[in-house]
Amino acid sequence: MKSGKTLLILSILSRFSVIGLLCALAMLTEYQNLKKAYNHPRLVELSSGRAMRVFYETADSFFSLFGDPAETARRSGGMTWSIRLMGAPFTDPVAALSVLAKSRHWELGFALGLVAPIGMALVFGRVFCSYICPASLLFFAIARLRNVLGRYLYFPDFSIPGGFAWGILFGGLVAAVWIGHGIWSLVLPYFALGQTLFQGIAFGTLSISLGSLIVFSILDLCLGRQFTCRYVCPTGRLLGFIGRRSLISIRREAPLCLASCQSCADVCPMKVNPKMDETVDCSLCGECLVICPTNCLSIGLRPKKILS
Ligand code: SF4
Ligand code: SF4
Ligand code: SF4
Repeated sequence: MKSGKTLLILSILSRFSVIGLLCALAMLTEYQNLKKAYNHPRLVELSSGRAMRVFYETADSFFSLFGDPAETARRSGGMTWSIRLMGAPFTDPVAALSVLAKSRHWELGFALGLVAPIGMALVFGRVFCSYICPASLLFFAIARLRNVLGRYLYFPDFSIPGGFAWGILFGGLVAAVWIGHGIWSLVLPYFALGQTLFQGIAFGTLSISLGSLIVFSILDLCLGRQFTCRYVCPTGRLLGFIGRRSLISIRREAPLCLASCQSCADVCPMKVNPKMDETVDCSLCGECLVICPTNCLSIGLRPKKILS
């Protein structure tokens, strides 16, 4: 595929859909609570007001499309690191490691939920980061803000060793064993975002995870474009590692590439350099395809000569 603009639009839309899904899951929890407590629109209205009745009836008719509404709600739900959608499980690889470290075993459904994210990384590399992770939309927006403010202010662009995120993963696992899995709602940016949305929508309260989101946003704004994704988030590092020889990758037609050009490396939010045929940590976001003056970059089956 050569159209970087299409990929960019797709990645923005898909991440907005994920945010919509997270909001829907939070509302679903609210619906389940109302269903258990009242199980009737009139009672919901008497207890929580007209707006809640409208919400309850809308959710009831929506879930009825898929069968018994209460059963459908029960089969779908969860948080960003372990979600069930119509019964199909999706498990975050970091969550799986955390459960393994703390409990030393996996439930079958939980383990099966790993098939989709790991399979996706093996085929497409770190594509989760550009097409699914809701937090990356926040970092994408902060990168644009950084560009605009950068016309008036100086923002450094720091690099630190990529191994830092492995250290955070290890530290997070130790903390999870010690104080519980809740630590990830502070460490994983997308979990922090999911938790903030969930708590705000389902319970109308502010989550402590909002503090983490603010810290991550400041890191991105002040230290470097998508600094959190490149150096802090353990999931990104783990998926980058799993997908380092992915089936699909960025490709370059070397004869068309300009010796004097460096645009693709400059624009890449993950600091990948397609000009040097680097592919590790590429999230297939399409930004380099948009900027390449000779259209010599594309996305397709990994060429045999590119090993990493
Ligand atoms: S590195 Fe982490 S926060 Fe960044 S996009 Fe990937 S999963 Fe999301
Ligand atoms: S090399 Fe960088 S800019 Fe190009 S698709 Fe991959 S992540 Fe995006
Ligand atoms: S942007 Fe295109 S022409 Fe420029 S260095 Fe990258 S691949 Fe080569």
